[in-house]
This record gives sequence, structure tokens and C-alpha cells, in this order.
Amino acid sequence: MASVWVFVEELDGAPSSLGLELLTKARELGEVAVCYLGSEGGVATLGVYGATRVLLADPGDALPTTSVAEAMQSLAETESPDVILFGQAYTDRDVAGILAARLGVGALCNVADFRLGEDGVETDHEVFGGTRIVTVRTTSRPAIVLVRPKSFQAAPAESETTPRVEHLDLGSTPARIVESHLSEREGPQLGEAAVVVSGGRGLGTPEAYELVERLAKPLRAATGATRAIVDAGWVPYAKQVGQTGKTVKPDVYIACGISGAMQHLVGMKDAGTIIAINKDPDAPIFSVADLGVVGDVHKVLPKLIEALEAR
Ligand code: FAD
Repeated sequence: MASVWVFVEELDGAPSSLGLELLTKARELGEVAVCYLGSEGGVATLGVYGATRVLLADPGDALPTTSVAEAMQSLAETESPDVILFGQAYTDRDVAGILAARLGVGALCNVADFRLGEDGVETDHEVFGGTRIVTVRTTSRPAIVLVRPKSFQAAPAESETTPRVEHLDLGSTPARIVESHLSEREGPQLGEAAVVVSGGRGLGTPEAYELVERLAKPLRAATGATRAIVDAGWVPYAKQVGQTGKTVKPDVYIACGISGAMQHLVGMKDAGTIIAINKDPDAPIFSVADLGVVGDVHKVLPKLIEALEAR
């Protein structure tokens, strides 16, 4: 039976949704140990999602990445897991990079899917805006694999386990986190919402983004944006969907005044139903849309909002 480790970070007091996606996939593959960067309170949830063993790393206010990577390195050298899974996220990337360098193996990044075989791990990577898949095989052991968010759907295991908890010795590090800045978050979160309404440069002005927010409200949707309007300072980076922003996979994605550049499409093309509103009938967004409205957002959106608010 394969030995699979999963790195999971605690966010807002619970295992991250990305970590639970990886754990759901990992439990199909073999015996799962979770390296949990968080507190003991998250362990029960990890058991619900199939972890049988938790390597608990609780760094307090210490900057954790180097010391966690070092602790994982010494354990990995002893136990030689087949694969160590990370998410394509900030802390994960830091730890994975340091760990790979210290173990002298490569790290396979931006992975959309992977398989464990007799002679190593095979990973799929989307290129050219998701229009082509490149498959890579590694015989490194452990294979270090960084998986994109929303590649797998998180689901509790059929039977809950009580994981065995071991504390990772993190040693001491002089680097401390003295301050952290959290962006104000209200309403449904982009990565989790069932409906996402996004706006692009076709809105014309920063003030017109209000139309996106008003449409989102009755739909209980999260609001997103293209890089064009993030770079222009209309909305914060936290709203950016795409290659250098967030990957979303809602049931419904509504694109308002968005051209559908490849770098935007990679972040939303796997949504269940895509609805696009654009005045240009040849806009590339219509190539992925299930439903297209050729029209001016300033005329279509107020009508849609009015109809929804009247319900
Ligand atoms: P535009 O391309 O200018 O499109 C505006 C659209 O609005 C047009 O199709 C136009 O027909 C339509 N329109 C105009 N007026 C109206 C109206 N009144 N009513 C209806 N429709 C109207 N982009 C991202 O989004 N996310 C990323 O993560 C990202 N990463 C990138 C990474 C790299 C390395 C690079 C090079 C680019 C990246 N980009 C990203 C930028 C991307 O290439 C596009 O420039 C960007 O997505 C375009 O944004 P947009 O659709 O808002 O603007």
C-alpha cells in the first residue's frame, strides 16, 4: 500500500479547503499521513476526511516554513513516503520548495491530476490556457507534487477515523511573525461560492463595478474580476480570477464585460454553467460560455438586477 503524505495548513481555525481536497484524493491512494500546520483543534476534521495519522506542527508565532520543511525532511528520510502532496498556495509552495531542495528531489508544480504507478508518479499539467495537457513521470522518492486548487472535490470519508497524533519537533527559529494583514472579507468567498459574478474592463468605470455587486447580492454570489481591472486599481487583487489570481469552480459563473483572455479562462473554465455578457459577438469568452448575451452591460445588468430583486 502506498504511503502518501499531505501537507495541510490551518486557516481561520480549521484545515484549509484546499488541504481537504488533497486529503480526499490521497485516501484513494493509500495510507495517509497529514502534516498539519495548525493546532490540535483541527485534527478531528482531518480524521473525518480520512487521515489515519497527523504530524502536528504548531509553530506559534514563529515563521514556520523552514522549520516545518526541516522536520518533514528528517522524517521523510527515515520513512520514505511515495508521495508528498502540497496545494498550489503560498505557504505550501514555500515548504515544498525548501523540502525538495533539502531532499535533493524535484517539485512538480501546478498539477491538475496525478496517478501513482509501479515506477513512480505521473502528473498532468495544463498548458496554453488549459487547451493542452503535458504529462510528466517522476521516479523520485518521495515525489513532491503541488496540486492546483479545485482539482479534486473535498468529501468526508465513508467512515471517520481518529488519527494518531505525533508532534513534529520544529526546533527553534529566530524569525517571528510580528504582524499580519488580512484583507477585509465579507459575503460569500470567491473560492467557495456556488455562484460567482465577475466584472471586466467592459464595465467602463470603477463605479460600474457596483452593478456586479448588486447582481451578486440576490444570487448570494461572490464577486470576482479580471486582472485588467485589478491592475487598474478598481478592485483589490483578492478578487482576481485567472492564471495569476484564483481558480474558481462554482456551479454558475457570470462574466460581465470580460473578453475571455486565456489567462482569465484558466481560472474559471471548469465552472458548471458559464454565462457571458459582452457587446462583442466575437469575444473569446463566448467560446466557453453555455449562455451568451450579446449586449451592453449597462443595459443588461440593470434589467437582470431589477428582475431578481422583484422576485
Ligand atoms: P479586455 O480584454 O479589455 O476586455 C473587455 C471586454 O469588454 C471586451 O471583450 C469588450 O468587447 C467588452 N465590452 C466593452 N464594453 C462593453 C459593454 N459596455 N458591455 C459589454 N461588454 C463590453 N487576466 C485575468 O483576468 N486573470 C489573470 O490571472 C491574468 N493573468 C495574467 C498573467 C499574465 C502573465 C498575463 C500576460 C496576462 C494575464 N491576464 C490575466 C491578463 C489577460 O491577458 C487580459 O488582459 C485580461 O484578462 C483582460 O481583462 P478584461 O477582459 O477585463 O479586459
